[in-house]
Amino acid sequence: MSKKPKSSALHETDGVSSPSDITDASSIKIIQQKRRARLDTKTLVADILNGNITALSRAITLVESSNPKHLKQANVIIKLCLPHANTSVRIGITGVPGVGKSTFIEAFGLHLTTLGKKVAVLAVDPSSSLSKGSIRESIILCEAAGFDTIVIETVGVGQSEIAVHSMVDFFLLLKIAGAGDELQGIKRGIIEMADAIAINKADGENIKAAKLAKIEFNRALHLYPQKESEWQPKVSLCSALHREGIDDLWVLISDYIDHTKANNYFENHRTEQNKFWLLQTIEDRLKSQFFNQPEIKVALNTQLQLIEDGETTPFVAAEYLLKLSH
Ligand code: GDP
Repeated sequence: MSKKPKSSALHETDGVSSPSDITDASSIKIIQQKRRARLDTKTLVADILNGNITALSRAITLVESSNPKHLKQANVIIKLCLPHANTSVRIGITGVPGVGKSTFIEAFGLHLTTLGKKVAVLAVDPSSSLSKGSIRESIILCEAAGFDTIVIETVGVGQSEIAVHSMVDFFLLLKIAGAGDELQGIKRGIIEMADAIAINKADGENIKAAKLAKIEFNRALHLYPQKESEWQPKVSLCSALHREGIDDLWVLISDYIDHTKANNYFENHRTEQNKFWLLQTIEDRLKSQFFNQPEIKVALNTQLQLIEDGETTPFVAAEYLLKLSH
């Protein structure tokens, strides 16, 4: 299993070297080698297809970059990797901080590894302003590199779980049994998105409360209308710390995959997700193209001030700014 250290939207550190690296001859050599490798897209793609992790990390860095040259190269890489992608099971995992996501993913990954699976973990940092599309593209790169199970972790506090939900096959919500507040603390929308709720820390003195929470969540889940997938979301107990219930959860996920492949939802859902991401990408690009124009930045500030002074209306101001854009 490869788990990336927490530093950016994708926990990605490899790639662009900081100037402090250029301190001795060997560092310079490494940087030169990196530059050469970066230029040679075909070699990079061949390395990714061979499962080379360094090449994969480098490509993910390109995908995340805001440098137009890097993005251009990234697009070519994605295009070449695409025929080798779409092969994995994509699992989204969310839950509030402290619920045990890291511990769970570690245990889950290890379990899958013993089953012969190749697991990649990508993490979405909600504070990141990076385009969520770069995660979607990183999934494609991981699949091309031979990863057959992609886990996407997100902290269940922001908008990010909605984005993650729209790029995974299975969405797991991690919870812990609380003091009678099982249905509070998480937004209703998130429960509705979940294909399963795992109540973690079901160990020691927590077991009784966890079992009660399971009953309560099962009852709550039955109140929702049937999902398009025709899958009835399930509640299970686990202890990530003691690695209990992890195998059951994988059986549950496998059942879901079988179920949705049999009724064609799996395939149709991915197509719908791809359409969504096409529109989302256009929206993101148009927005950033618009707001990044220096003259728009200045004019926008002026219009905002005029709004504050009650000297224009939002519609007149918007019309003016859109006309100014090229
Ligand atoms: P995250 O913030 O959601 O990634 O949570 P962590 O994985 O960092 O876990 C938060 C704390 O809960 C840590 O101290 C873990 O050791 C503990 N923890 C995680 N899973 C379990 C579990 O199954 N049982 C118990 N008792 N503690 C757990």
